Amino acid sequence: MKFAKRVAETQNAGLNDLYTAPDPQQISFAGGYPDLAMFPQAALQVAMDHAMANPAAFQYADSWGYRPLRDQLATMMQADGIKTSGEHILITQGAQQGIDLTARLMIDSGDGLVVEAPTYLGAMAAFNQYEPTYYEVPMEDDGMDLVALKKILMTHSVKMIYTVPDFQNPTGAVMSLEKRRALVRLANQFDVLILEDGPYRFLRYEGTSLPPVKSFDTQGRVVFLGSMSKILSPSLRLGWLIADPEIMAGIEALKGAADVESSALIQRGVTEYLAHVDFPAHLTQLQDTYRDKRDVMLEALHRFLPADYTVTEPNGGFFLWLQGPAGLDMTQLQRDVLLPAHVSVVPGRNLAPSHTTQNGARLTYAAPAISDIEPGVRRLAAALSHAAAR
Ligand code: PMP
Repeated sequence: MKFAKRVAETQNAGLNDLYTAPDPQQISFAGGYPDLAMFPQAALQVAMDHAMANPAAFQYADSWGYRPLRDQLATMMQADGIKTSGEHILITQGAQQGIDLTARLMIDSGDGLVVEAPTYLGAMAAFNQYEPTYYEVPMEDDGMDLVALKKILMTHSVKMIYTVPDFQNPTGAVMSLEKRRALVRLANQFDVLILEDGPYRFLRYEGTSLPPVKSFDTQGRVVFLGSMSKILSPSLRLGWLIADPEIMAGIEALKGAADVESSALIQRGVTEYLAHVDFPAHLTQLQDTYRDKRDVMLEALHRFLPADYTVTEPNGGFFLWLQGPAGLDMTQLQRDVLLPAHVSVVPGRNLAPSHTTQNGARLTYAAPAISDIEPGVRRLAAALSHAAAR
């Protein structure tokens, strides 16, 4: 069968590296999953029961999403610094669909698209379908390198910049306040859309939250994506997109064409849930759990890692970045050394279009049991030391 070109593009995204053969002894620092014990199962069950009592929960509705949910999310996002209202929020199937729809709106084959290096693998998988010309901007401790970005914008035609400013996947970095402002100024100057992907915003473990990039938007050129995946449950497939009217009109039409609408049942269930629980208290519980796990992982990494490896120290989110010596191929190490030692990471090679990040890896502390973290890090460190000695 001769598949469309976009199929090959998508298969090349390197998603396969994430899925390793099942190994019951393995301690995985790979998949960006929430902690299974943290899903508020009982409260969601009560909320879903309420929602199901109404026949409208089983009917078609509209592609914008359920208005009471959009209003609740608007209240949450207003408190977080974005001036918006339910009218300007569209419900998506997770942030992933927001990435896909925004790319579909903006990118024709060959159009310039800036991504952070490294960046979120799933975003590239979505972008690849539209055959962009990628430009990479290196990540720094305080977000993407804006000097490098400016050089690109001055010399190439770019339509969109994709960024994860809060607890970036995969480095855990947070973009500084000054860079957030400067990023919007650059986008205004060069007439570029900013796609701000914020699924980890509400998972800050210490320090003060910085306003979203969208809050500095003066020309309606920032699209903000939120998600319930990391703060409630990924199986709900519930995300939201905030954009100004011109962009939103295009997105809404594309959403209808893609899947008509998101599930009314799920949206009504989540609306009930948010109306009846203390959601900030739930977030605090998540923050406490993940902060402890992060602390255990960082302490173990600092104790056991070989001296020529460094790690980032995130203040939130799910991930940190392990950087090995120059020339190292983390993909090969994973296959030859880590998997046989029953431990796994996400090798960095496919986390940037040019594969320049191959000596790094993404580690998560969110999913593994807290009691597995130190033993897993010991395995990882021993395997890396052993490989270096060979
Ligand atoms: N963006 C980023 C940065 C992510 O890390 C993820 C999940 N790994 C997503 C989007 C997709 O999340 P969702 O489940 O909301 O589609």
